[in-house]
Amino acid sequence: MEWDAEVDVIVVGAGGGGAITALTVAQEGLDVALFEKTDFLLGNTAASAGMIPACGTRFQKDLQIADSIDIMTNDILKKNHFESNAKQVQALASISGPLVEWMNDDLKIEMSVVTEFKYPGHSSFRMHAPPSRSGLELMKKLKKRILEHENIYLLLNSTFNELITDGEKVLGIKVKTPDGEQCIKGRAVVIATNGFGGNKEMVNQYIPEIADALYFGYEANEGEGIQAGIKIGAMTSSLTAYQGHAAVNEQTGLLVTWGTIMMGGFYINLQGQRFANEAQGYSEFAKEVLKQEGQKGYIVYDQNIHNKLLSIEDYKQINEMEAYKKANTIKELAQLIQVNPNTLSNTMDTYLNQTEGVADIFGRNSFGEKLRAPYYAIKVSPALFHTQGGLSINTNAQVINTEGEEIPNLYAVGGSAVGVSGNHAYGYMSGNGLLAALGFGRIAGLNIISNLVANKEEVIND
Ligand SMILES: Cc1cc2nc3c(=O)[nH]c(=O)nc-3n(C[C@H](O)[C@H](O)[C@H](O)COP(=O)(O)OP(=O)(O)OC[C@H]3O[C@@H](n4cnc5c(N)ncnc54)[C@H](O)[C@@H]3O)c2cc1C
Repeated sequence: MEWDAEVDVIVVGAGGGGAITALTVAQEGLDVALFEKTDFLLGNTAASAGMIPACGTRFQKDLQIADSIDIMTNDILKKNHFESNAKQVQALASISGPLVEWMNDDLKIEMSVVTEFKYPGHSSFRMHAPPSRSGLELMKKLKKRILEHENIYLLLNSTFNELITDGEKVLGIKVKTPDGEQCIKGRAVVIATNGFGGNKEMVNQYIPEIADALYFGYEANEGEGIQAGIKIGAMTSSLTAYQGHAAVNEQTGLLVTWGTIMMGGFYINLQGQRFANEAQGYSEFAKEVLKQEGQKGYIVYDQNIHNKLLSIEDYKQINEMEAYKKANTIKELAQLIQVNPNTLSNTMDTYLNQTEGVADIFGRNSFGEKLRAPYYAIKVSPALFHTQGGLSINTNAQVINTEGEEIPNLYAVGGSAVGVSGNHAYGYMSGNGLLAALGFGRIAGLNIISNLVANKEEVIND
């Protein structure tokens, strides 16, 4: 076999998971080739709110927030109805605190706890994010760190689609670069190309229930990493799992934070009626919206919620563009959004009459503060954000074959690997995406270091 280049570690996909893996191994002096299909370091990570769940951090301790690996593990498992692998969840919960502190201290990405609201399923305030609460800021800083490392060779416009093996272990990859197809040899290969949300055919095949929704993730995430793994005998798990979201504002292309709901707002269909328990989670709610006439809706909230959400970057932009309607009475609001005023009035009256802690007819039992005028409504659509199933991995992020054995030298992280969201949309707890990307990125990197650094020193000393 003729190789075009040889490095210690090959990472394919330069989103959050790939960046964290590359930085982890580069910090220990290993040479890394990082291949990215597009011309940018963005991925879904840049589109995200940049919120990373982590427990036991000093940032939580400073705010006297009680949390632990067990509590976080249990929250994630409870949300996915105990469908995902408990050991994997625990491995991620265990790395989460040290990961966020390492990002703050070593990567100089300032982290703080999001205390404005809790997402469904989280029993503690544990979302950690950069100041702007935006994934774009996260990726910009990760890119800066990557460019500072002389031992990370970043190759853009380079599409990975094949693994090279000797029939047993992975030896390297084939990648289409601007200079043509190249064969790159590596002592470890990490697949970080996210899932298959951008591949309509695969979405139709594995998750037909969300195939009609808008795809709001990164277009380049077309599943090549998962397909390349399958081709060499890797096992896959939970391919039916995904992160949906019920609140994309198509007019601005911005995400409307579910904080609108968790702080006391509610979701109506285009006829002005509530139709399901919004507080169960935004992921599974997307499917509920697709069942409604018109397949869209509005979130209704108030001035108090609006004011509190201005600290969130996406919402700040929504505010700048005035993407919502605002009115002093609920009937006026109904007219602005072309909904029958009596219907919306009835919906609002019934909603305001609910008692905190007592489930309504949809099962919602937490209603936040009572809404007060002026009222806001923002148009929202359901979307597929990313897929949550992928290559089966162990707790070290090593890929497993269909016999249940590790494939030597092969790792998968983030959306390319099976996540911790079980097998359905309801299993996605906010933060599971970045947790599996950055968490397994860090775990894969540390595992590669422990396997390769000792060997590298031996080779040098020989
Ligand atoms: C709008 C939105 C908001 C979200 N908010 C949150 C949040 O607040 N918290 C949270 O935890 N999760 C959130 N998520 C999910 C989260 O963004 C993802 O789970 C996470 O970013 C996945 O990281 P990744 O590294 O696996 O993939 P990505 O960040 O998507 O990176 C994958 C990279 O691989 C590249 N690539 C693809 N195919 C190839 C190939 N064949 N060869 C080379 N490169 C390739 C892509 O171009 C891309 O750069 C959100 C998602 C969306 C869409």
